[in-house]
Amino acid sequence: ESGLYIVATPIGNLGDLSPRALAVLDGADLVAAEDTRHTRRLFTHHGIDSRLTAYHEHSDAAAADRLCDRIAAGEAVALVSDAGTPLVSDPGYRLVRLAQDRGLPVVPVPGPCAAITALSAAGLPSDRFRFEGFLPAKAGPRAARLAALESETATLVFYEAPHRVLATLEALLEAFGAEREAVLARELSKAFETVRRAPLGTLRDFVAGDADQRRGEIVLLVAGCAEVEAEIDTALGELARELARELP
Ligand code: SAM
Repeated sequence: ESGLYIVATPIGNLGDLSPRALAVLDGADLVAAEDTRHTRRLFTHHGIDSRLTAYHEHSDAAAADRLCDRIAAGEAVALVSDAGTPLVSDPGYRLVRLAQDRGLPVVPVPGPCAAITALSAAGLPSDRFRFEGFLPAKAGPRAARLAALESETATLVFYEAPHRVLATLEALLEAFGAEREAVLARELSKAFETVRRAPLGTLRDFVAGDADQRRGEIVLLVAGCAEVEAEIDTALGELARELARELP
């Protein structure tokens, strides 16, 4: 069937490729991959020999157009990223929109996603969560982003690079206090998988004291602000605005 197939791939354990994902990738006329060498390893493992082409965040609008031309001509094109679900902190957004705008079928093939996998084993409230992707790397913008999340009551989910995890934990501690519960979810589905839930202060010490905890791929989760605190914050904010109006 011609169309754009958005195919989720494993986040570590190559066995996590679903049978449907395998069939779609195997049957695709072309697979657009963030990094073709990376995806080649998955293909080799599963005996897939479909044609690969590069499609990444630096690809221009013309690249998306060319892929859509092929779909319009009747081909099945699959999009994959290095790991997990395309478009989740990964390229593909522009391509999906373009395909939709050109009236081409866009078919999601669901599978692994690090954020959801982390949430499923974190032991934090999961009825409401807020995915924040990567925080800004620079301290100022990062603190500003966290300040804006101060009274968020949903569980917060962040992606982080290993060399920044300690600085980010410090920033989280600064923003939310040492007692707020958090989770470090590292190397999910891989040999050194770690899911550690503790108050932010304890979690920071744990990561600071063990260099191994600063390696590999990491999701950080933070419990939301308690409802009562959020209500007080909102009430104080309203009061402050009212006072500001009254003041000369
Ligand atoms: N599209 C992917 C998904 O659906 O999860 C995310 C891509 S994003 C560029 C990569 C980030 O995802 C990593 O920096 C890390 O925060 C997280 N991640 C990916 N694989 C992971 C794993 N096995 N364990 C923990 N975090 C992972």
